[in-house]
Amino acid sequence: MSSNDTRHVQIMIIGSGLSGLGTAIRLSQQGLTDFLVIERGPDVGGTWRDNTYPGAGCDVPSHLYSYSFALNPNWSATFSPQAEIEQYMRDVSQRYGVRDKHIFDCTMTGARWNDEDGRWEVSTSQGSFTADFVVSAAGVLAEPNLPDIKGISSFEGEIFHSARWNHDASLAGKKVAVIGTGSSSVQIVPSIAPEVAHLDVYQRTATWVMPQVKRPYLGLERFAFKRVPGLQRLLRALIYIQRELFVVTQVKYPATGIVLEMIGRLKMRFEIKDPELRRKVMPQHRIGCKRMLVSNKFYGALDRDNVDVVTDGIAEVRAHSIVTDDGTEREVDAIVLATGFHVADSPTYNLYTGRDGRTMSEAADVEGFQMYKGITVADFPNMFFMLGANSGLNYTSLIYIIESQINYLVDTITTMQAKNLRSFEVRVDAQHEYNRRLAPKLAKAVWADGGCTSWFLDKHGNNAALWPDFSYKYRKMVRTFDIEAYDTKAETA
Ligand code: NAP
Repeated sequence: MSSNDTRHVQIMIIGSGLSGLGTAIRLSQQGLTDFLVIERGPDVGGTWRDNTYPGAGCDVPSHLYSYSFALNPNWSATFSPQAEIEQYMRDVSQRYGVRDKHIFDCTMTGARWNDEDGRWEVSTSQGSFTADFVVSAAGVLAEPNLPDIKGISSFEGEIFHSARWNHDASLAGKKVAVIGTGSSSVQIVPSIAPEVAHLDVYQRTATWVMPQVKRPYLGLERFAFKRVPGLQRLLRALIYIQRELFVVTQVKYPATGIVLEMIGRLKMRFEIKDPELRRKVMPQHRIGCKRMLVSNKFYGALDRDNVDVVTDGIAEVRAHSIVTDDGTEREVDAIVLATGFHVADSPTYNLYTGRDGRTMSEAADVEGFQMYKGITVADFPNMFFMLGANSGLNYTSLIYIIESQINYLVDTITTMQAKNLRSFEVRVDAQHEYNRRLAPKLAKAVWADGGCTSWFLDKHGNNAALWPDFSYKYRKMVRTFDIEAYDTKAETA
């Protein structure tokens, strides 16, 4: 890639969701202005741009779900709808002047470390680039998981994934099937149930559902958020502390989850009249093993006369119907696949080729998906992997982790510049030791032995997704670049 058409930048950010956009803003604030963001979509927003399904919203309270440097006094409700978060991200990208650093509709097709030149070579749908540093901000929930069900390609009605909602397809008055009962499904089902003629909800695993205090903010409250100094910060801190309590039930003392399970049972008792339906949706795993669902309307929707919960496995999809393992055939006009995303097996990992010529997927195949502090990877020099292995959270705002990782990234790059270094690569022994210390915490968590499988686990059964401790400990851990864990090379000229 030495053609004259190749453009060089110091820092190439891949993806402009919450991590990529946040990184772009912080870099420009630090005076690190030689960067570009490539984004495969037509605008910023990532998952909040792509998930436009009916009822889409955030189940983390709105005042915690924003960048710490761009609080928003105008959130309309205690939990924000998707469109508001998407608009917030557009506004922020405008306000902080990073839009002209973006190339939209530009898909990264490969990124290879050139050890001789000490650079990344990045190929995209809009030409070739080289970069001193690459920031993978492609997102965890970006690649829809399309289930491999017999006959599914022969279905003749409307069929689409929750993250690729077809707004041209009206579901009103139709017979509809929703496959999956995860966080997306619990928002979709109550939104479409009143308008469809009939809805079959295909549930493979019942999951615990928690209530939420969801209400619009009053004008007076929004006025106070704007005018009373510190009020938003205080509310944010209180929400943060309240959410951290989930670490106790999931990681520190999983037995205490029984309190939440009691709330889940009571909720089921109050919201579902039909005892047979209550039996069907009763989870068989410990709470928190899968991501808890949050909804005040899901059970009520399942209890409607025009809604059936189907728990038999799906054997086959035919041109106009779905057949379950017991041989029952149910006619259907449209199928919504609320079947989640490729997380541990994201196709993105095939696109990065490290120093030894292996892709990230190939490396993960052998060793499992392992990183150092959730952001750097041995054999992949000068690369930051946002929301990498074991840096996810399933109970609070991921933006907290994203901003922690940005601190580390900025400190790494400024340290490199100050020491006149060209490349950094985490040492294999440091990465192994880090993961060795993480292992007992992961083993103790409810995700490991709570009696379920989930997208937190990779094909080896290892949890490579979640951070197994309080989130403030993660922030503390990545406050500064710990150069002693890295091999570095000096600038040559
Ligand atoms: P998900 O949680 O992975 O749920 C996928 C659902 O599809 C599960 O019920 C799964 O069953 C089912 N499924 C998958 N393949 C299937 C197959 N072949 N046959 C039958 N059922 C199948 O996906 P999601 O609901 O899209 O949520 C993904 C993540 O997005 C969430 O965990 C959350 O982190 C995030 N999210 C967040 C919000 C928010 O408000 N913050 C909202 C939506 C999504 P099993 O359980 O048996 O695997």
